[in-house]
Amino acid sequence: MDKITKVLTLLSGGLDSTLAVKIMIDQGVDVEAVNFTTPFCLCDKCSVDRVEIMFGINVHRVYLGQEYLDLIANPPHGYGSHMNPCIDCRILMLKKAKEIAKKIGATSIVTGEVLNQRPFSQKKSMMDTIEKEVDLEGKILRPLSAKLLPITDQEKNGLLDREKLYSIQGRRRIQQIELAKSWGITDYPCPSGGCLLTDPQFSRKLRDFLDYNKKLTFKEIELLKIGRHFRIDGKKLIVGRNKNENQKLLSTANQENKPYLEVTNYMSPITLLEKNTTKNVTEKAASITARYSDAPKNAKVKVQYVGSIVKTLEVNTTDDLTSLYRI
Ligand code: SF4
Repeated sequence: MDKITKVLTLLSGGLDSTLAVKIMIDQGVDVEAVNFTTPFCLCDKCSVDRVEIMFGINVHRVYLGQEYLDLIANPPHGYGSHMNPCIDCRILMLKKAKEIAKKIGATSIVTGEVLNQRPFSQKKSMMDTIEKEVDLEGKILRPLSAKLLPITDQEKNGLLDREKLYSIQGRRRIQQIELAKSWGITDYPCPSGGCLLTDPQFSRKLRDFLDYNKKLTFKEIELLKIGRHFRIDGKKLIVGRNKNENQKLLSTANQENKPYLEVTNYMSPITLLEKNTTKNVTEKAASITARYSDAPKNAKVKVQYVGSIVKTLEVNTTDDLTSLYRI
């Protein structure tokens, strides 16, 4: 059988894409990989390094920046169950992979996708849509599910051996875990939790942000990742949860000339406010700040407002507005 010279595998470093690399190596082809990261990645970068070293393959690393943020704000194919625009995300990654494949002379793109593993993007109909949009129909090989999918051009042409591909589908990973075991692959990250966009709490904060703002920036994402978020009368406030977050909020307040609140007579979080916050919002924000301070219940608490002026408000910790305004 003739051999294709090179394939490019999308590698997240998770179990499925690691297995896809191994399956392609076992086909006797030359394998390179591309690893995409985004500002929402919670991925363990070491796992990609491990695969690179374990199989001695070349890994291209691509960071998806502002272009990706713009896509998140307005994905043509919509979101999954949270703020994950998986279809458009896959389309963007495959478009970039296609360019790299062309550059390195790879004749096919390989992914670790498993049929029906994810309800939104890994259904057969969605895989078809994605292939069509990137103009790669019949050219994307998914070795873990290949036998359940239409034959690809490479298999048709005898460049890949369909018999050495798999027919895995669904969310359970029993077969993948068994394969990994049989190949001595033991060190791989947990399959869930690689993308913040699938996190319900983060998604709520991001949805709220996009409801009030058109443009998503890196700075805003860093703020979305920290603190407790509230919205009162259209104004956003962020309350720090620990020393590190308080420092970040304080430095944002200083850099962007934004006002903040802090309890002065007890240990306190920093609460970052928006500019031009009304008296009503500031008072409610002060009450929320006091609620997260070390002040005991029913205490009178002094909260300092630091903005274009500095003033002190007095609030009572009995008022609990947190659940009313929490995003
Ligand atoms: S889970 Fe996140 S990284 Fe993965 S395809 Fe969906 S949006 Fe993209």
